[in-house]
Amino acid sequence: MSYWGFPKYVSVAEKRAKAAKKLEKLKKKRDVKPVVLQGKAIARTWWGKAWNENLERYADYENRIGRGRSYVRHGAVLDLQIREGEVVALVQGSQSNPYEVVITINKLATDAWRNISDSCAGMIESLSELMEGKFPKAMAEAFMRQGTGLFPSSREIKLRCSCPDSATMCKHVAASLYGVGARLDEDPSLFFSLRGVDTSDLISRTIVSGTERLLSKAGKKSARIISDADLSAVFGIELADGAVAPTHSAALPRKVKASKTEKKIPEKKAPVVKKAKSGLKKTTAKKSAAITRKKIAKKRTKKT
Ligand SMILES: [Zn+2]
Repeated sequence: MSYWGFPKYVSVAEKRAKAAKKLEKLKKKRDVKPVVLQGKAIARTWWGKAWNENLERYADYENRIGRGRSYVRHGAVLDLQIREGEVVALVQGSQSNPYEVVITINKLATDAWRNISDSCAGMIESLSELMEGKFPKAMAEAFMRQGTGLFPSSREIKLRCSCPDSATMCKHVAASLYGVGARLDEDPSLFFSLRGVDTSDLISRTIVSGTERLLSKAGKKSARIISDADLSAVFGIELADGAVAPTHSAALPRKVKASKTEKKIPEKKAPVVKKAKSGLKKTTAKKSAAITRKKIAKKRTKKT
């Protein structure tokens, strides 16, 4: 037997050819996603490398996971699907039919995700930065932290393979685990799908915290009030004096309200005007109209 467990006379080229032939057959039957390495490296991007690094640091994995490297390299992972909490793969072994591998991974705990989102607030501005691994070292360290980070520990991962190998970590499972790293190189968002968390939580929290900072700088003026001028601009309508503001103004995105009011309201006068117009009820409208009439009447009497 060779190091890889194959009879010596089966060359890598032959294994590769066998896997490729099987893959062509499978493609005719169903939609498969084989693991194809780009270049010699087993992982190229931050997410792919971090995935592999995480697995290799667990004592119960480090001795056996290496057996999967050769399998991934010669294209034995014919199909690999990543879903929430699960990886399902077909791996070509020494037998004619590929083995079925199922890897179950616990979803990331809600508390852990919230803590990570809090500790990373303000560190990145966009989803693409997150996906490209363009974030500060502190954020990478928080992601990688054992126990409280984003990556699963070996205890959170359950492995299953249809092959006769009695080892929990057979070559097919090991190859599939490396296959996940290779797939994350192509689409890192799958990592978040696998762990059952929404990347927008992280991004939106970052933006919200930015808005909050702006508000506190601006003397904590209310972000909820919007001037009539802004309402007209947003809805394309002209508000008559004393008109009741549209009720759906409450549905305006908070961001719009915040930025517009901050920039456009001059000092203290504006909120008073806004309150009078937007919060006006019919009765108060009548009262103010009456007051106005009295004032005009007074002026007239003064002039005469
Ligand atoms: Zn196996």
